[in-house]
Amino acid sequence: MINLILFGPPGSGKGTQAAHLVEKFGLTHISTGDLFRYELGNNTPLGQEAKKYMDKGELVPDSVTISMLENKMNMTPNPKGYILDGFPRTLAQAKALDAILQGRDTKVTHLLALDVDDEEIVKRLLERGKTSNRADDANEEVIRKRIVEYNAKTSPVFDYYDKSGVSKKIEGVGSVEEISTRLAAALV
Ligand code: ADP
Repeated sequence: MINLILFGPPGSGKGTQAAHLVEKFGLTHISTGDLFRYELGNNTPLGQEAKKYMDKGELVPDSVTISMLENKMNMTPNPKGYILDGFPRTLAQAKALDAILQGRDTKVTHLLALDVDDEEIVKRLLERGKTSNRADDANEEVIRKRIVEYNAKTSPVFDYYDKSGVSKKIEGVGSVEEISTRLAAALV
């Protein structure tokens, strides 16, 4: 069973690559960003709560995020495996994920980190902001805040899984196909 954390800064291509990997490996894709945007679109209490943080480029609190992720995983109880995209983003989330997977007699098998430098990220997100309809992509200040959050809170998750030998960096610049091939090669 593959349980992949697709890792990397905002705008590093996780969503695009996840779609390719779902096709190649038949895994179940869960993106916490997409889940929050769905809630936001439906103006649910969870969406309204998340919006306060997302609009500022901050992380949504762990308790909210973890219970949403767990609910989603419970809706797909017997997957071939998961691709988690945008989760875990903090050490507390990583520990919660380990406990959830342990309860199912499985664990994180791979963490693949798309490596893209900060200036390239800002450029890509501003470009995406022209068409994505995402408030958090339209504003350079919010983009830079997301990068700060990533470096401070999320990047330690790489080292956390590195201790169990599952973390790996993947060059994240190139064509979509090239990057997809690199990821697939790291998954076998
Ligand atoms: P990106 O990777 O481009 O920043 P995402 O769609 O993954 O976009 O996330 C958008 C926003 O949703 C984040 O900036 C954050 O506010 C919130 N979010 C998504 N996933 C998490 C998470 N695991 N923990 C906390 N906040 C999250």
